[in-house]
Amino acid sequence: MRYHTHIVSSLAIGAGIATYTPVSFTIAYAAGLAIGGLLPDIDEPNSYIGRRSLGVAKQVKKAFGHRGFTHSLLAWGAITAVLLLQHFSSFTLGLCLGYAFHVLADYCSSQGVPLLWPFSKKRYRFIVTYRTSSFFETVLFYCFLALFIYFLTNGAIEEQGSLFLF
Ligand SMILES: [Zn+2]
Repeated sequence: MRYHTHIVSSLAIGAGIATYTPVSFTIAYAAGLAIGGLLPDIDEPNSYIGRRSLGVAKQVKKAFGHRGFTHSLLAWGAITAVLLLQHFSSFTLGLCLGYAFHVLADYCSSQGVPLLWPFSKKRYRFIVTYRTSSFFETVLFYCFLALFIYFLTNGAIEEQGSLFLF
């Protein structure tokens, strides 16, 4: 999945959560969703975030390979435990959710993800998959964009905390 699809899908699902739960859709929450939605690709120097990582991505790829450690349940669990237990805020909540949505989106791609790393290097994937940069991914991008706009205009933003866009 390309970076803009990761951002839009994270924002759309995050806005859906804000619509149906007490979570507020604030700028900090949206920023967390977007950054978390890109973070797992810190293991690929050519990814959007990897190109801006000042060399970190190169080291992570060397150590774990692309779609290795950073795309596992262990990495997500560790980040979530540290951030949410130590520094709970709407930004860190968005970041942990965005991270999970990224791994979930890659799980639905034809390459799959090593969910159980380091116990197994097997890449798991959903029964129905899409190919990165395919026409189907473009369709997904617009579907998530529509969904995001729908949630934003139908309850994701509370009247009082309307910090974002409207
Ligand atoms: Zn990825």
